[in-house]
Order: sequence, then structure tokens, then C-alpha cells
Amino acid sequence: MPSLPTLQFHNTLTRSKGPFVPIDPARVRMYVCGPTVYDWAHIGNARPVVVFDVLFRLLRRVHGADAVTYVRNITDIDDKIIQRHLDTGEPIEDITRRTAEAYFEDMRALGALEPSVQPRTTQHIGEMIEVIERLLAAGNAYVAEGHVLFHVPSDADYGKLSGRSRDEQVAGARVDVAPYKKDPADFVLWKPSTPVQPGWNSPWGRGRPGWHIECSAMSAAHLGRHFDIHGGGHDLIFPHHENEIAQSECAHGGTMAHTWMHNGFLVVNGEKMSKSLGNFLTVRDLLARWPGEAIRLLLLKTHYRAPLDFTEAGLRQARENLDRWQRAVQRGAAGADRAAFEAEAAAAPLGDLLSLLGDDLNTPGAVARLSLLATSVFDELARGEAGRGRAFAAELLASGRFLGLLASTPEEWFAGGAPSADGPSAEEIEALIAARLAARKARDFAEADRIRDALKARGVLLEDGAGGTTWRRT
Ligand code: AMP
Ligand code: ZN
Repeated sequence: MPSLPTLQFHNTLTRSKGPFVPIDPARVRMYVCGPTVYDWAHIGNARPVVVFDVLFRLLRRVHGADAVTYVRNITDIDDKIIQRHLDTGEPIEDITRRTAEAYFEDMRALGALEPSVQPRTTQHIGEMIEVIERLLAAGNAYVAEGHVLFHVPSDADYGKLSGRSRDEQVAGARVDVAPYKKDPADFVLWKPSTPVQPGWNSPWGRGRPGWHIECSAMSAAHLGRHFDIHGGGHDLIFPHHENEIAQSECAHGGTMAHTWMHNGFLVVNGEKMSKSLGNFLTVRDLLARWPGEAIRLLLLKTHYRAPLDFTEAGLRQARENLDRWQRAVQRGAAGADRAAFEAEAAAAPLGDLLSLLGDDLNTPGAVARLSLLATSVFDELARGEAGRGRAFAAELLASGRFLGLLASTPEEWFAGGAPSADGPSAEEIEALIAARLAARKARDFAEADRIRDALKARGVLLEDGAGGTTWRRT
């Protein structure tokens, strides 16, 4: 049994990378903030999903699939949802059910495993009221005009996650501070609802929870008051995660989550992709034009903490990477019995890959490793070393699958790969390469050259090598 890697993650709370030591290795627990469901997910929303899916896979491999619980919530009550209902007349339950289902479908298409639990805000109102009551009893919250507010100066630790000073916290608060706030940095735990707004009965009248309290209540309900990892996008550090910590630690004591991990933004021309900026591309639209794996791979080619510049050229390149890996698997496995090759892949060593991922999720390193394995397949085949080529192909397939890639067989991939927005599909290119080979065998070099030139005119370069003809887009 090969030894498993020591995991190290960057922790926003300590501002450093350190070894990951679970509170209870038999029960590793992670929580990631999920979507507010009123619209299609954009590709920026998919980044934390794919990043933390790789983390989930890694933890399952290292600690055992049954030992890991992954909770990702669905926020199904929010002012943006209410606004959407007022704008369109569609009932709130229909908006949230329809959008949550689309979200599940989209994330499945990106190869993300389903989290262990996907709790919804509206199913946990009782637990939220309980946490708020504890905060009131402890003197960390107060009631004002039907609202319940968290009193920030009551918490000496406030600001420890974001590192924001008191001045920065206040500057970050809304410009016009509500008159009922004792301190400008105080934030809402509960707010009153008008008769047309959805609401629940509470000790403070009919109302609804603030956003931050949801995650404190849902994480405690499903993972307990203290757990291992809390994740989300960089934009959530302040105020959302800072406020979650304040609520949970003042209500329950102890450290809420030991490791806090945040993905960087997905940007377009240097600007964060977001609905409010209007510069977003939905996962749905992209899936109509690109294979889910190409989108997933593009998201993994940049380290999760760095900004990721999203371009169609990047997607095209990701698809070409997958084409090349699939071709390597296909050629490496050629002539081998499929079941025997599958067994070889199932037994393939993944130590190097796991070490890379265990080092703060070095997915760019993992992607480079897959490319190197593909090169090794072609090199060994060119040398006539079929057995060694097959072993590299088996490791490539196993590594790809670990990352949630190479799920289809090469035949399925080349037959079904969705064509890109421009240029010939991989399937068409492969067919033309076969036709060109046939023409050369028939010594019809004029036809062979015509095919090569026609492909070149459409942006595809053919390269003849010892292992056969390969292609790349220009
Ligand atoms: P939202 O529905 O806006 O609350 O976002 C859901 C998740 O997507 C959160 O973890 C956000 O931090 C994350 N997110 C939103 N926009 C981006 C972006 N442009 N890049 C990376 N992550 C994002
Ligand atoms: Zn949250």
C-alpha cells in the first residue's frame, strides 16, 4: 500500500500554509457556501464548486470515502429572490426549485460529485432562531425595531479572519447606516417581513433571517459546532465569513472551523465576473458549446488562489489538451483487452498526483503531470515499447479520472465531443487525418496535401511524427 501524502493547505485564518490535521480523522468535515438560487449559475460561481470538488475527492482518497462529510448549502431565501418574484410574478418556491435543479444539473455536467448534504435555508429557520437566542442571551446581540442585530464591539475577536481594522470595518459598512444600529459595523441576524414578503414567526415578530446566520446554523446542524474546513470565494472573507465566525464562536464557544480556504476570482479583462457587472457567461450557455470537461479543465489549470482569466481561447486549449490525452489513452491501450486495461488503470500508482494535490491543491502541477504522462505514452510507442506505453496510458487515465476528467472512452470522446464555436471538431479532424493517410497509402500525394492545406486554412496544423499524425490548433 503506497503511503498517502501529508496534506497542506493555505489557511486564510493564519495567513500561512500548514499541515492539515483533522479534528477527528474518522470524521473529516467541510462546509462550502453555496449559491443563492434565483438565476443560472455563471462560470465564476462554478469555480468554487470545481475547486472544492477536487478537495473533496482528495480528502476522500486520503481519509476514506465514508469518513468525509461535505456540506454545501442552498440559499433559498434572500432579497434578490424576492425581487425576482416581484419582477416576474413567478412564485418564490418555483423560482428556487427551478434554479436549484438547474444548478445541480450544471455542476454535474462539470464533473462535480454531489456533496454529502445540500441543506436549504428554509429548512433550518428553527436552528437559526436558536443561534440568535443564544447570542441575545450572551449579550452579543440586541433587538431594535423588529430587527435583531449582532453587536460587533461585543466580540473582541471580530476581524481575525479578514484582518480588517476597526476603521476598515466601519468604512466597509453601508454609507447610510440604519438609525437603529448601535454601531455602524453591526449586522443583521433577523429582519422583519412585510405581509407580502415571505416570513416566519419568531420571538421578534414575523420575519426572516439575515444571510450570515444561515451558514452558522446549517454548518452546526450538519457538521457540529466545530469542524475542519470552511470554503468559498475570496469575496466571502468579509463580511460573510467574518460574520459567520463572530456568530458561531460567540454562540457556541471554541473555534468554528480550523482551516479557511478561499478561491480567487474568475475575471474577464481583469474584472471580476459577476451578475452586477453584467460581464458574465452562464455555465448553461457554455455547456451548449463546449464539453463540460473542457470547462472543468480550464478551471483547474490555474491555482485556486490566483485570479483566473477566462477566455474562449483558454477553453479551446483545454479541449485540445483533453483531445491529446484521449488520443494517448487510445493509442496506449490499442491492442490491449479493454477489461485488462481498465484493471491496469484501477491499479495505477497515483502517488505523484496526490502529492501535488496535497500541496495546497496544486492543480496546475497535476495538469502538467497529465501532459507529461501523455508525452511518455507517445514516446514509448514511438520506441516500440508497447507495454510501457500502455502503463503510462493507464496512469494517465487513472489520474484524469481522479481529477474528474477523461470520463468517456476515447471513442465516445471523439465521436461526441461538442464542436467549439469555431473551427472543425476533433471528430472531423480525426476523420480528415484518416482520409489523408489513406490518400498517402494510395500514393495520391496531391489529395493528401490538399487535406493538410484545407485544415491549415481552418486553423489546424498537422504534424507527422514517429507515433503517427498529431494535430494542434493555431
Ligand atoms: P453567489 O451566488 O454570488 O453568492 O456566489 C456563489 C459562490 O461563487 C461564492 O462562493 C462566491 O464567492 C463565488 N463566486 C462568485 N463570483 C465569482 C467569481 N467571479 N470568481 C470566483 N468565484 C466567484
Ligand atoms: Zn456562507
